[in-house]
Amino acid sequence: MMQTPLLLTQMIERAEKYFPKKEIVSRTESGIERFTYKEWGERTRRLASALNTLGVKEGDKVGTLAWNHHRHLEAYFAIPCSGAVLHTINIRLSPQHISYIINHAEDKVLLVDPDLVPLLEKIKDSIPNVEAFIVMTSGPLPETSLDCVYHYEDLLKKGDPAYSFRTDLDENAPAGMCYTSATTGNPKGVIYSHRGIVLHAMALGLADTTAVSERDVALPVVPMFHVNAWGLPFASVWFGTKQVLPGPYFTPAILASLMEEEKVTITAGVPTIWLGLLNEMEKNSYDLSSLRSVLCGGSAAPRGMIKAFEEKFGIPFMHAYGMTETSPLAVIAASKSYHDDLSSDEKLDIKAKQGILVPGLEMKIIGKDGEVAWDGKEMGELALRGPWIASEYYQDERSQDAFRDGWLYTGDVVTIDEEGYIKIVDRTKDLIKSGGEWISSVDLENALMAHEDIFEAAVVAVPHAEWQERPVACVVLKEGSEGKVTKEGIVEFLKPQFAKWWIPDDIIFMEEIPKTSVGKFLKRTLRDQVQEKTAQS
Ligand code: ADP
Repeated sequence: MMQTPLLLTQMIERAEKYFPKKEIVSRTESGIERFTYKEWGERTRRLASALNTLGVKEGDKVGTLAWNHHRHLEAYFAIPCSGAVLHTINIRLSPQHISYIINHAEDKVLLVDPDLVPLLEKIKDSIPNVEAFIVMTSGPLPETSLDCVYHYEDLLKKGDPAYSFRTDLDENAPAGMCYTSATTGNPKGVIYSHRGIVLHAMALGLADTTAVSERDVALPVVPMFHVNAWGLPFASVWFGTKQVLPGPYFTPAILASLMEEEKVTITAGVPTIWLGLLNEMEKNSYDLSSLRSVLCGGSAAPRGMIKAFEEKFGIPFMHAYGMTETSPLAVIAASKSYHDDLSSDEKLDIKAKQGILVPGLEMKIIGKDGEVAWDGKEMGELALRGPWIASEYYQDERSQDAFRDGWLYTGDVVTIDEEGYIKIVDRTKDLIKSGGEWISSVDLENALMAHEDIFEAAVVAVPHAEWQERPVACVVLKEGSEGKVTKEGIVEFLKPQFAKWWIPDDIIFMEEIPKTSVGKFLKRTLRDQVQEKTAQS
């Protein structure tokens, strides 16, 4: 067979050639903006040529600090298709970590949204190697203390709309990079090759995974600064899918309206986003009948939430698992044809698991005595390998902890059932070790979030003299449920579902559960808060 390289250039050229009329809808600071793939393609070529003029060369890193919008999508292609590397920066990291990753990646140029300029001003003295800042706006340039600032649209005006994207690149060359937050120490960088991104996008198009196609209207809620918005923008461009990009500071009401108005068919985000949307749909009515798939990953989707989407609102829900290191799609909860005859409860059980391995990848699950049995009970650490799994952290000696013998050790403890469905029990570091046994914080959280008065729940370990660790549940009640439920009531609710020693020692009511930069429960901070509270009482 021919050894033709898999490059992002093919994706954008296909969109321009075959889908010039299809739309990219973008919610920006100046309202809703619409571009066809033809217009967007020209703008992307202009940006690539402008970056060349600024001195960006093959292999240079270009950082983005931006929300989900058409300009960010232009950067997604202009940078790698001109041979440079797209470094998406998580805008919610601490200023110290942002400056660390800009320096570690050696970003030469940064593209930044106007509202995020103050963030860069705070760290400007610690990132001396950045040669230029490009502000992504159609309005006037904001007043700033940064040097070498360019206006995005001015640069585009001067750029070449007929710029030739690179077709001569090595498919293994870096196209993108993203840093993942480490438990301790600085974030760790993952490099995505052209080949990895293309094959991952192809996997998103499979009928038995997410089946992204030309007929879809895709709205990635997951930020474009987080694992390439799970690869949806790449797949959508390649397949000519209409895209709806929700822009900055959206609320559940804004999301629901956008989905209704643009007739979104597929959307993707973390569970906290979907809890918010559910809450909104319960309060106000929207016609979301166009939705064929709500993709959910990043942390475990509570069974109760899946049930509400599917049974109360008739919206198909798709649970998936992955990580920054896996591009991210690795496991997806697709049901099998013969599951159609199962009861709705049994089907929900399958949907609440993370799912089966995506074609193209390999896995093993290592327990105490080698690979675990496929019995849904024995726990072990999931290890993965495949063409869109990273092989190391970028210039980081911590690589050897996770990458061993050609496998990525995910740090996730899982079980696998007879059918090959994986269930994430916990992250190794979040498992609660009580009296030599393991308690899954995820299982307890799922059960709690199925309670009709509970909005969110997170369970963490507190140290215990006799048992080593014990679980404590932190609970946020739904609006209007305050005073309706007691700690004792919640304990009684859990008792029939779990062994006695799994029941949390305490239930703490909270206003809000601290979240990570991408909306996952921030277990580290929560553990400190709870341990402080427990020590005081
Ligand atoms: P961070 O470490 O910054 O959270 P990632 O987004 O890469 O970065 O997180 C990946 C981790 O998220 C996985 O290792 C796993 O623990 C968790 N995760 C992802 N998807 C799911 C899911 N569907 N259910 C449970 N946990 C998940």
